[in-house]
Amino acid sequence: MTQMLSLSDGRQIPQLGFGLWQVPASSTAETTATALRLGYRLVDGAAIYGNEEGQGEGIRRSGLPREDIFVTTKVWNSDQGFDKALRAAESSLKRLRLTHVDLLLVHWPCPSKDLYLETWRALIRLKEDGKALSIGVSNFQEPHLERIIGETGVTPVLNQVEINPRLQQSALRAFHARHGIVTQSWTPLGQGLSFDAAPVQAAARRTGRTPAQVVLRWHIQIGASVIPRSTREAGLLENLALFDFSLTEGEMAAIASLDTGERCGPDPARFEMS
Ligand code: NDP
Repeated sequence: MTQMLSLSDGRQIPQLGFGLWQVPASSTAETTATALRLGYRLVDGAAIYGNEEGQGEGIRRSGLPREDIFVTTKVWNSDQGFDKALRAAESSLKRLRLTHVDLLLVHWPCPSKDLYLETWRALIRLKEDGKALSIGVSNFQEPHLERIIGETGVTPVLNQVEINPRLQQSALRAFHARHGIVTQSWTPLGQGLSFDAAPVQAAARRTGRTPAQVVLRWHIQIGASVIPRSTREAGLLENLALFDFSLTEGEMAAIASLDTGERCGPDPARFEMS
């Protein structure tokens, strides 16, 4: 159903998944089970989303073998530091009721805390202990990546960052490519702010797809892993149908021209919320 991307540690990740931010805890199990039944195989969660119990329950409810599902969670900012991150990961596994996750991420660098290097060392330990099969980061910028790679010699397999047609992060993506880091796009629909743009509308007309599908297909064709969220079954299905059409080079170039550098979310260099 979905293509796989290779991770630098030899494992693979589905290119398309679904995200659980702001999915109510009370309906997360149902949303997760539905998405998995529809064909998704990657579920992106985080401790701070407050719905890891539902994420784990949905995985069990889907009836799929655990090894067929790629499970991500993240260590929150207030849990940064070596010992705290180890404990936080254990707590996530307890809430998920899983023995391991497929991917564990440091959620934000929080540079002014200056704990992301120690946190990364904890993730290296968690991988050695089999609690996380792969480890990566989120919202890291080049200096943060350079520092953790330089200090530990361990390169994150993936960096999950905000990307949409208005915020294309070309320089960071080029850095990722040089280091074998998979780019994963969060808030990939960019709050729909590019849906009305002429290049998106033109591609939607030509392909007979929705603007959301055109934008998600753009993520696929730039080589990113993408994790849209929908709490509607119709939305989940729409976002899954990305592999039976493609955008032309001209359409990709036209969408590339929409880059304004405007963020939907916070600036990782300053974001410290604990
Ligand atoms: P998305 O870009 O996935 O957009 C979600 C919104 O778009 C919802 O309001 C949804 O509404 C709507 N939507 C979904 N599909 C469609 C469609 N086909 N047509 C029109 N509207 C649609 O935003 P998110 O911010 O949720 O980002 C995705 C995931 O990325 C998160 O869930 C989370 O897992 C991750 N993330 C990670 C962050 C990080 O710091 N690492 C930060 C933010 C997000 P409806 O439910 O009604 O369909």
